Amino acid sequence: MAGEIYRAFHERSVKDREGFWAEQARLIHWQKPFQKVLDFSRPPFAKWFVGGETNLCYNAVDRHLAARGDQKALVYLSTETDEEKPYTYRELHAEVNRMAAIMQALGVTKGDRVLVYMPMIAEAAFAILACARIGAVHSVVFGGFAAGSLATRIDDARPKLMVTSDAGMRGGKAVPYKHLVDESLRVAQFPPEKVLMVNRGLDKDMKLVAGRDVDYATLRAQHMDAQVPVTWLESNEPSYILYTSGTTGKPKGVQRDVGGYATALAASMKHIYMGNAGETMFTTSDIGWVVGHSYIIYGPLIAGITTIMYEGTPIRPDAGIWWKIVQDNKASVMFSAPTAIRVLKKQDPAFLKKYDVSSLRHLFLAGEPLDEPTHRWISDALGIPVIDHYWQTETGWPMLSAVPGVEKTPIKFGSPSFPVFGYDLRLFREADASEAGADEKAVVAVVPPLPPGCLSTLWGDDERFVKVYFSMFSTKQVYSSFDWGIRDKDGYFFILGRTDDVINVAGHRLGTREIEEAVQSHPNVAEVAVVGVADQLKGQLPVAFAVVKDVARIATPEARAEHEKEVMATVDKLLGAIARPGRVHFVTALPKTRSGKLLRRSIQALAEGRDPGDLTTIEDPGALEQIKAALGGA
Ligand code: ATP
Ligand code: MG
Repeated sequence: MAGEIYRAFHERSVKDREGFWAEQARLIHWQKPFQKVLDFSRPPFAKWFVGGETNLCYNAVDRHLAARGDQKALVYLSTETDEEKPYTYRELHAEVNRMAAIMQALGVTKGDRVLVYMPMIAEAAFAILACARIGAVHSVVFGGFAAGSLATRIDDARPKLMVTSDAGMRGGKAVPYKHLVDESLRVAQFPPEKVLMVNRGLDKDMKLVAGRDVDYATLRAQHMDAQVPVTWLESNEPSYILYTSGTTGKPKGVQRDVGGYATALAASMKHIYMGNAGETMFTTSDIGWVVGHSYIIYGPLIAGITTIMYEGTPIRPDAGIWWKIVQDNKASVMFSAPTAIRVLKKQDPAFLKKYDVSSLRHLFLAGEPLDEPTHRWISDALGIPVIDHYWQTETGWPMLSAVPGVEKTPIKFGSPSFPVFGYDLRLFREADASEAGADEKAVVAVVPPLPPGCLSTLWGDDERFVKVYFSMFSTKQVYSSFDWGIRDKDGYFFILGRTDDVINVAGHRLGTREIEEAVQSHPNVAEVAVVGVADQLKGQLPVAFAVVKDVARIATPEARAEHEKEVMATVDKLLGAIARPGRVHFVTALPKTRSGKLLRRSIQALAEGRDPGDLTTIEDPGALEQIKAALGGA
């Protein structure tokens, strides 16, 4: 029966945790062996590989010098500045040493925080790895975040140093950072003493602040031959802080360890992504997100893989650019997000056929729900398994996924398959914390200890860590994901949206995701957001905002009304009239965070005539204007 090998592998990983993880830990280098695989004496805090000493930078870079010093480690590719620059492992090693020496010269020592506010350029990777090398704790903040968001994160992490650049680039235009940086440092209570500026020459008006801002190129020239010894860290010391996307409110400072993270990443590269040393991985995310940390920087490099660092969009110069990158670099593993695939789905499908992507073994997608039609479309187009997998900033690596390196289980469209090894992941009923049966919607939770690689705590706030994640049930201490899920009779999981994305229509609880799936199954709908809007009669009423593929179908008010009815009828057919949206508004873009997540709460606020709240993470403010206009015209 399909799945037996996977099941045995998973079962061992949660029943014989110590044996299983001791084996996986052999995938990385330990300078000093650990004395104890797991210390779970203070639940829910889990300590992995206690007493062991290792280093993320050593595992990602130095360890490969002997066998693959001349292999490409990192390829910086920009369709924004039309640059391409590969770095071999030897070159990467030299650059990281220079950066580490600069940081030390600026007073950074073990345990100090370094805030990295950078575009997708190679120097960002050098900075991250340099921190790891000297035991400094990096906190990467997505480049281009507004001054206010940056200041909150500065005050939480209290960095000694900030590494930044004059500007990012997007859609061919420079996005200057310096004024955001200056403003954030003006309002922050705990600004860093020094700011290291990587000047790309994109902002001619940029002025350095004397005594605070220092120029990277100048300092680099002084440290060309730097050899900075690796600082060995006990496995449970902090490696970085990363704030969650903030889709549901105030971002949380996720703290990661060293040895557990390195081990989990190495194990995931082998068993999930099936990336082998010498191959190429193309992850289309950004270093500002967890996917960038784990699968642009650390994961592939720990595995001796060539990683692609791409600055640009999926549709510039045209919608074939990603497939060209795959072809030119013979990428065997690719990782992207559903939102990007939906963007490509709206483009001419001929772009997919233009390039030779036969080097690709799998495409992995994560970040938000992957609807069945999109999953099917991209699978057919590429002719390879497309693996939806589910995880969070908190976990650092996948929680639900197919694990093709262990067993090639069949893919079900719209499903992120099964619990990943190490996770005792289950579905609990919200009402009484009992375990849900097949086909029953419940809360996705993990019975602790969380496996290696997951958050150790929230930065500086153990209490909040326990309160936020482990206090959902009073009778059971489990890690709550705050997502709804369902498991079918074959054991496949489906994520149904967030626990707070529930619409209550006349006493019926409906997940926004379910209604979105139904709307999206209409062939002319490319993307949709469904929110619950307060309704005097029914409590709440679903309202949909849909992006159509063929705008000719909504060219006149009559056609628009006709189309709206047709979409509603699709929902009726799939879910019943109870789930039918009260209105279906047509727009050309939906408001999302910069990591591609729908800002449902803001849409809902607008639909209820309230203030849309904190919008600093929004990608395209114009999309929100469209929602307003659509509502105004209703
Ligand atoms: P915050 O916690 O600050 O509100 P966030 O949850 O959006 O922000 P992330 O950690 O980046 O920040 O996102 C994780 C969430 O993304 C998951 O909890 C889930 O809701 C969603 N998600 C990720 N992958 C998938 C997937 N494959 N299918 C469905 N949902 C997914
Ligand atoms: Mg979250």
